[in-house]
Amino acid sequence: MPSASSSFQSLTPNPQPLAPSFDVIVIGSGIGGLVTATQLAAKGAKVLVLERYVIPGGSAGYFEREGYRFDVGASMIFGFGTQGTTNLLTRALDAVNVSLETVPDPVQIHYHLPKGLDLKVHRDYEKFLQELTSYFPHERQGIRQFYDQCWKVFNCLNRMELLSLEEPRYLTRAFFQHPLACLGLVKYLPQNAGDVARHYISDPQLLQFIDMECYCWSVVPADMTPMINAGMVFSDRHYGGINYPKGGVGQIAQKLVEGLEKAGGKIQYQARVTKILKENGRAVGVQLASGKVYQAKRIVSNSTRWDTFEKLLPAEEMPSAEQKWQQRYQKSPSFLNLHLGVEASVLPSGTECHHILLENWDKMETAEGTIFVSIPTLLDPDLAPAGYHIVHTFTPSWVEDWQGLAPSEYEQKKEVAARRIIGRLEKIFPGLDAGLDYMEVGTPRTHRRFLGRADGTYGPIPRRKLLGLLGMPFNRTAVPGLYCVGDSTFPGQGLNAVAFSGFACAHRVAVDLGL
Ligand SMILES: Cc1cc2nc3c(=O)[nH]c(=O)nc-3n(C[C@H](O)[C@H](O)[C@H](O)COP(=O)(O)OP(=O)(O)OC[C@H]3O[C@@H](n4cnc5c(N)ncnc54)[C@H](O)[C@@H]3O)c2cc1C
Repeated sequence: MPSASSSFQSLTPNPQPLAPSFDVIVIGSGIGGLVTATQLAAKGAKVLVLERYVIPGGSAGYFEREGYRFDVGASMIFGFGTQGTTNLLTRALDAVNVSLETVPDPVQIHYHLPKGLDLKVHRDYEKFLQELTSYFPHERQGIRQFYDQCWKVFNCLNRMELLSLEEPRYLTRAFFQHPLACLGLVKYLPQNAGDVARHYISDPQLLQFIDMECYCWSVVPADMTPMINAGMVFSDRHYGGINYPKGGVGQIAQKLVEGLEKAGGKIQYQARVTKILKENGRAVGVQLASGKVYQAKRIVSNSTRWDTFEKLLPAEEMPSAEQKWQQRYQKSPSFLNLHLGVEASVLPSGTECHHILLENWDKMETAEGTIFVSIPTLLDPDLAPAGYHIVHTFTPSWVEDWQGLAPSEYEQKKEVAARRIIGRLEKIFPGLDAGLDYMEVGTPRTHRRFLGRADGTYGPIPRRKLLGLLGMPFNRTAVPGLYCVGDSTFPGQGLNAVAFSGFACAHRVAVDLGL
């Protein structure tokens, strides 16, 4: 490990006394960063996590206002199953001897779609197929064949330990242990869900429904959604299921931090990394906004790839692999978020936790087209004062629409947009407006500021139709010693997906460190 040396002096414009060195520095404590950090700490690495905000979790964080505990973003949580290998959140917590109580959600989503397509994705697979088939009886066989294909992908994944696809010895071992599963995955890796769906299904409205099934987590239609991700989501919701962490989504990061510290790792908050420091082309340390410098043998960035290669490293030195990635992938929109506290009487009896509302198929991908709703207090009432619920609703929005406004214009624009969304939600929750107790509105600017994500983006989406997941980069980067983890690495957005990326990143780093 490098020590206080004259060569180190050249790394920093304001040389300071050296802090202890680490095996690994992780920039950011999103779930991807924390899974990497905990996995490495559990293997004995000396790990430091540097987080710019005051709490861990990033898009899986939380905030509290007037007795409500709101999830910042994620609240439909995969990965808390008890069996198989795809239950990565359960496994990540286990690895550092911590655990979380979770509440099973009997329905993944209640869809409220155009032309009266009103249906629920039940945890019970057969019940879901039955409900969908009742709208499209002529597609009975195609529906089953499509979703059964998704199960094939899932069953392959769920058989093997999910680690780094950049580690040849692991790949060889996995192939010899599970040859059929591996061949199955190789077959599906370059495919997109839309092509598979059209192979079995021809009804245009049903294909639009499949588009929405993909869009609501991949933010692109089925044709652009990799079959590997679709296989995970469309099957695991019926296998491990959707489970809400008691105490709110923020608990996942809190528990991982607890486990990290138990395993000897460290985390520092309000520690914004402004620079990744290189020596002879190799990443060797980071510099904080305070000027403080830390060195480590390996640097892992949980910041998005855009932030990592345009802000933490000089944009003009961007490696060609990153330039190519940016030509293939663009930033998805961010969201306009309404964090509402409402009187319990607003929710009709039997209301489900997660809803999707869309009135016009042509608007699915436009700003304020699709509306997402989560009501986590239906699963954990302790997140709100007695007699009240949290309604977190969000809809796609681009940062450009919120720039260049005077503070009063910005506030007014937020208020007007919030009223539009509430007006539309009255259709499923009559009396919502009258039952409002609390409202806080977040915009793409809020996401950019508090989550530190370029343009507040939800994550990368393909610019054009690609070959499934083949174009998504893994954890190693063109800069020796520097790795990326999180939703701009394979396999993409979502807590369980970034946990996968964390397991893979830690595995690759551990092999490189000889742990
Ligand atoms: C509104 C919304 C709803 C969502 N709903 C769901 C859902 O229901 N289910 C689901 O599974 N997923 C959902 N997601 C997606 C999911 O939350 C994300 O894909 C996931 O949390 C991203 O994790 P990550 O590890 O990539 O990083 P992030 O969550 O982006 O965390 C990165 C961390 O790094 C820190 N950081 C960044 N730059 C620096 C720096 N320079 N120095 C120090 N620290 C830095 C940030 O502060 C942050 O804490 C949702 C996302 C949003 C926004």
